[in-house]
Amino acid sequence: MTKHVGIFGGTFDPIHIGHLIIGQEIMLQCALNRVVFMPSGEPPLKRSMASAEDRARMVSLAVRDYPEFELSRFELSRPGKSYTIDTLRHLRRDMGEDTEIFLIIGADNAVEMGDWFDPEGVLDLAHVLVAERPGFERARVDPVFKSKMRFVETPLLDISSTAIRERVRTKRPISFFVPDAVADYIRTQGLYL
Ligand code: ATP
Ligand code: MG
Repeated sequence: MTKHVGIFGGTFDPIHIGHLIIGQEIMLQCALNRVVFMPSGEPPLKRSMASAEDRARMVSLAVRDYPEFELSRFELSRPGKSYTIDTLRHLRRDMGEDTEIFLIIGADNAVEMGDWFDPEGVLDLAHVLVAERPGFERARVDPVFKSKMRFVETPLLDISSTAIRERVRTKRPISFFVPDAVADYIRTQGLYL
């Protein structure tokens, strides 16, 4: 039987409940078998605050109790910047004919898709599933790209890694924004201070 695998890329600096709820909801609504969270190495469009290793460890802690969720170190283990199109080409080769790839992105990424390297190629290689995000309307997505994407009605979660980093920096609690194990990791490693 064909396997449907969701690939959820991000800086995950840190991973938060927005990512996890969206991963779960899209998995359910789109009948995916599993969701692979793939932290970026050197992000093409922005730099991260925590190291790649710390970001991967936090993803690993966040997904450890969910058998359908997993961490991929694919982009972390590659030197230099990873473009989504290159990652998808590798995954396409590695995963075999019986696997369909679903790329999960938030609406902010969908709006910015024109800035990606080879967006048409990405849309050809994977089914692109878009999660709602407050402040980013579907209407702003390029109509050519939009026609090839599926918009999934996920809960609107006004939460971001940027806001969580800011909470840590200003000594406000981050409980409930991230899984407990991730909050503990941020505290013990002294991240984002
Ligand atoms: P930052 O503030 O550092 O950009 P972020 O919260 O946007 O962090 P990313 O790691 O940049 O998290 O996002 C990874 C993916 O998850 C992106 O496709 C992004 O659009 C999506 N995403 C993150 N948070 C949400 C959210 N609250 N709702 C919908 N999509 C989200
Ligand atoms: Mg972001």
